[in-house]
Amino acid sequence: MLAYFRDIWDGVVTVLIGMKVTWGHLFTPAVTIQYPDVKLKLPERARNRLYVNMDDCIGCDQCAMACPVDCITIETVKSTPDIDLGLTSVGTKKRLYVPLFDIDIAKCCYCGLCVYPCPTECIKMTDVYEFSEFERENLIYRFATMTPAETEGAKSRLSSYEKEQAAKKAAAAAAPKTPAPPVAPAAPTQAPPNPETKV
Ligand code: SF4
Ligand code: SF4
Repeated sequence: MLAYFRDIWDGVVTVLIGMKVTWGHLFTPAVTIQYPDVKLKLPERARNRLYVNMDDCIGCDQCAMACPVDCITIETVKSTPDIDLGLTSVGTKKRLYVPLFDIDIAKCCYCGLCVYPCPTECIKMTDVYEFSEFERENLIYRFATMTPAETEGAKSRLSSYEKEQAAKKAAAAAAPKTPAPPVAPAAPTQAPPNPETKV
């Protein structure tokens, strides 16, 4: 009989101990939020989705070389001297077309190493962190803005220019060398008379 009441007592005490924790949380501020309706403010310098402003990209490849997982792919085409590609917003002259600039964000480890070496500060981390996809292909971000026709045009112009330069070089190499004209002996130089010298 005594054991029966001790069990009831133990049950009541156990419930009260559990409720003590529950009651304690009723009067402390909540640490959860109603995501995605409510979103936390991101810390400064948080690393999220990358963005490239192609208007400022000079195709220097430094970001791709810095990437430890090779998830940046860049292709460039040289411009010809008759084409002015303009300046970036920081005043750097653009000399290369960038027909391909892909970032495979599925491979990205968000180290940020591509951001720091960029001389024109055109690759940056954004505050976008919700970009899940059903297809991996959709996680390859293609930033280049040139159309295939524009790329072909740039390649064709470069090819013509290089052929023209090669032809000029070959013609210059094949031209007979004309002997240099004889050099006339230098006239003897005479010092001007000193007006203070008495004759
Ligand atoms: S953040 Fe790191 S892993 Fe991602 S693209 Fe840049 S360098 Fe590569
Ligand atoms: S480092 Fe900057 S300028 Fe150079 S290729 Fe990358 S994004 Fe473009």
